[in-house]
Amino acid sequence: MTVKGRIHSIETLGTVDGPGLRYVIFTQGCLLRCQFCHNPDTWKMSGGKEMTVAEIIEDIKDFQPYFESSNGGVTVSGGEPLLQAEFLLELFTELKKLGIHTCIDTSGGCFSRSPRFMKTLDALLEVTDLILYDLKQIDDEKHKKLTGVSNSHILDMARYLDEKQVPIWVRHVLVPGGSDDDQLLQRLSDFIATLSNVQKIDVLPYHELGVYKWSELGLDYPLQGVKPPTEDRVKNAEDILNRRKTIPLN
Ligand code: SF4
Repeated sequence: MTVKGRIHSIETLGTVDGPGLRYVIFTQGCLLRCQFCHNPDTWKMSGGKEMTVAEIIEDIKDFQPYFESSNGGVTVSGGEPLLQAEFLLELFTELKKLGIHTCIDTSGGCFSRSPRFMKTLDALLEVTDLILYDLKQIDDEKHKKLTGVSNSHILDMARYLDEKQVPIWVRHVLVPGGSDDDQLLQRLSDFIATLSNVQKIDVLPYHELGVYKWSELGLDYPLQGVKPPTEDRVKNAEDILNRRKTIPLN
């Protein structure tokens, strides 16, 4: 069966979404409403362009030499890629036949232990080499304010990926006046330390590059006036989150 993906955009040689040079597919649709989101144009489930796996694979093949020379591969980001888990399964199955490294950048926002979701997820994890896992806020009430949803299922997915021993890189957006708080960072660090599958922890400084998209969409920007964190605060967050050891890279 061929499942079509709903694709927002494609970046052919990305350098920040996983190891090496990467073909990055941004999927359409997200259930979260992060206050710092720089891609609010991916939120709507109905937007984007429908593409088949065959169409995408054909395009990706041109970039294989770049992947091979840089230990890169393909990353699916969003939006929320796991909303299209069946499409990802079909895509990654084809990519693995070509020997291409596969990565998902997810917030875990649509994780549920429903048998249907878990069946697809388990099959998808078999053909996934790495997950970039966003942990946005450890405090549940603050998480609700920041993203519109609780973090309980998101932490649950992190634990599940640990059980399955799927390698993850944790990503944490540092927001002044929000997550940039030593106590919150320490709590997050303590949670990360309970996971044995963490290969890397990245602190992503909050930035204002996507603010114009909010006004284009006629939306009020909730973090108006918040400035990016200083280099010192980013270093401080990196130190706290890395206090406990992560496992070595392969
Ligand atoms: S999960 Fe990502 S795409 Fe969705 S609202 Fe948050 S930052 Fe935006």
